[in-house]
Amino acid sequence: MERHHLVIIGSGPAGYCAAIYAARANLKPVLFEGFMSGTAGGQLMITTEVENYPGFPDGILGPQLMESFRAQAKRFGTVVFTEDVESIDLSKKPFFIKSSQNQMLADAIIIATGATAKRMDIEGTRDGEFWQKGVTACAVCDGAAPIFRNKPLFVIGGGDSAVEEAIFLTKYASRVFLVHRRDQLRASKIMAARALKHPKIEVLWNRTLEKVQGDQIVRKVILQNLLTHEMEQREAGGVFFAIGHSPNTVFLQGQLKLNDAGYIVVKKGTTYTSKAGIFAAGDVQDPVYRQAVTAAGSGCMAALDVERWLSKKGIVE
Ligand code: NAP
Repeated sequence: MERHHLVIIGSGPAGYCAAIYAARANLKPVLFEGFMSGTAGGQLMITTEVENYPGFPDGILGPQLMESFRAQAKRFGTVVFTEDVESIDLSKKPFFIKSSQNQMLADAIIIATGATAKRMDIEGTRDGEFWQKGVTACAVCDGAAPIFRNKPLFVIGGGDSAVEEAIFLTKYASRVFLVHRRDQLRASKIMAARALKHPKIEVLWNRTLEKVQGDQIVRKVILQNLLTHEMEQREAGGVFFAIGHSPNTVFLQGQLKLNDAGYIVVKKGTTYTSKAGIFAAGDVQDPVYRQAVTAAGSGCMAALDVERWLSKKGIVE
């Protein structure tokens, strides 16, 4: 079976940046970019304009940015497999990796599988109903679509993401309703204040989304007032979930230490995980910053950590 010094799992900014550094350090990395999971390139593939990635004063499209990362990783010799990793065995060294079409051994692994936006599982929001046809989990990716123009739009959640998405949607919506299950926003004070004073945003406190209804497109939402338990029906053109993210760690099957929210625990200020030889970078280990630039930065850190670790173990010079 083929044995590699480094296998990188994941292909967002963290994975590709790790690959660029590792390839330039002659580690000849293999990178699994994902396939069926639809995750190749990570969350930036479902974003439009990225305006805060340094080096692009006029902004750059998310997919274009990721294509550049990928090309740069390949230029220095990264071998990219467009496959999903199905399982890994960390019980002995070298580690064993099984993908949809390959099996291989690795001296070190960088996990950079990112996180996926959560959605609610309620009537009208499922696949085959209005999911991706008026119900989404990414306002920034989808908010500019014509179906949402000049319509009342509903953002579900009360954190920074919800507030950010609500503010973003005011560019297109007739009105934005922020539906929050409590009477206080979780968002930071500055973000919350922006939402609360925005003339186009109204917060619907103590409410949950019960149902989404429509015909070809979304027409209505049914909300429940959690204090009175009354149901109310409102005209709606779209629903945007902003209820947090889940780190993509299922394939690890409990072999690494995770925190309560399922993020991989890394040693503070490093990319070392609970298992020697396994490193983590990007959103899969970052519940706080979750930016393309911080993910890329931690990918760089992971490659440097791996290089030093392999050298300390005498595996590479
Ligand atoms: P978050 O802080 O975990 O907030 C999730 C929100 O969704 C909470 O208000 C939560 O309600 C609500 N929620 C969760 N599950 C729900 C359910 N099943 N039904 C209804 N509501 C539900 O997630 P986030 O907003 O994505 O932010 C994650 C991290 O990224 C935070 O640290 C945040 O500060 C950071 N972030 C920063 C920025 C920025 O600074 N520009 C932007 C985005 C995110 P409860 O409040 O009741 O728990």
